[in-house]
Amino acid sequence: MAKLVCTSCGKIHSTNYKGFKCSCGGLLDLQFSAKFPINEIKNRKPTMWRYREAIPIENNEDVVSFDEGFTPLLPLLVNGKEVLVKQDHLFQTGSYKDRGASVLISHAKEMGIKEIVEDSSGNAGAAIAAYATKAGMKCDVYLPYKTSSAKISQIKAYFAIVHEISGPRENATRAVMKAAENTFYASHVYNPFFLHGTKTFAYEVVEQLSWKPPDTVILPVGNGTLLLGAYIGFVDLFKARIIEKIPKFIAVQAFNCDPLAVAFSKGFYAAKIYTKKTIAEGIAIAKPARAKQIIDVVKKTKGHFITVKESEIVQSLKWMAKKGYHVEPTTAATFAGLKKYVNEGIGEDELIVSTITGHGLKDVETPD
Ligand SMILES: *Cc1c(COP(=O)(O)O)cnc(C)c1O
Ligand SMILES: [Zn+2]
Repeated sequence: MAKLVCTSCGKIHSTNYKGFKCSCGGLLDLQFSAKFPINEIKNRKPTMWRYREAIPIENNEDVVSFDEGFTPLLPLLVNGKEVLVKQDHLFQTGSYKDRGASVLISHAKEMGIKEIVEDSSGNAGAAIAAYATKAGMKCDVYLPYKTSSAKISQIKAYFAIVHEISGPRENATRAVMKAAENTFYASHVYNPFFLHGTKTFAYEVVEQLSWKPPDTVILPVGNGTLLLGAYIGFVDLFKARIIEKIPKFIAVQAFNCDPLAVAFSKGFYAAKIYTKKTIAEGIAIAKPARAKQIIDVVKKTKGHFITVKESEIVQSLKWMAKKGYHVEPTTAATFAGLKKYVNEGIGEDELIVSTITGHGLKDVETPD
């Protein structure tokens, strides 16, 4: 049985608890023991739900799914080094956020929720909106004013009600928290069920490598929904004795918005507040709520942060397009970081896995 645990006071809440934080204000994590009946898994449909016993939803009738996941893991040559790349732009809504949305909305359905609110700089909003409408739920999404128009249209297309909030990103957060006083907050950041969807990234990678872990994963990080999920996934596999080590986590941030990289290099957890605009809008998070957890994962796995400048992101965007990948600038930032990592030469003998987090059709305004 899954349980919610407060990371601050240790209080246990049932999974039916509807608050997005503990009563003490602490962040909630999910305690759950994942099982992997490998021989059965191998015979199931190629979707993220093939790891059914590892996903904390009780009844199959409550699963909200488009048969998503099990995306290809393709080789890509980066300055002479072959890396393996998850094609996570190939989801129903065009980003890996569907992994989290599928599990979080299934959980909401399990609780009988009919109305939800969410805030997002774009892709999480689109994913939550799509799964909510599929589940027959009413969905309100709070967005910062400067979100790219393709993402806003996409969210509206799924019949979500969009509230564009002017001022910095934090204003949208404040507005959603007010709305969350009366309605279930299907937050990709606070609700740990989202992370128990994104964790399937790790399961798929390991299965695609014949049940072996990679040496290194290189991931973009803003709020850490992919990084933290992937870590949970590898730990689940480690605890189930399927893999014998956890990969090293390399986290990529935009130089213009790098609060975690700065905190990591200074050896503390408080993120710097001052940030500048970046075209990598998917990871432009000035104050990530789970900052401490993210930094701890990078530290524990003996990884580090890499930051990339705007010019490097633009260059990387072109480089990827040349290879036939039309990606979002946020994804281009990941590959700019990956290139730096490869060029440093540390990863020469490592099996490196990275990912395309978002489709290029998501952001049609970025200059080429
Ligand atoms: C959400 C997102 C990320 C990573 O985001 P986190 O804030 O770390 O969860 C990366 N790329 C894209 C395209 C995204 O939508
Ligand atoms: Zn608490």
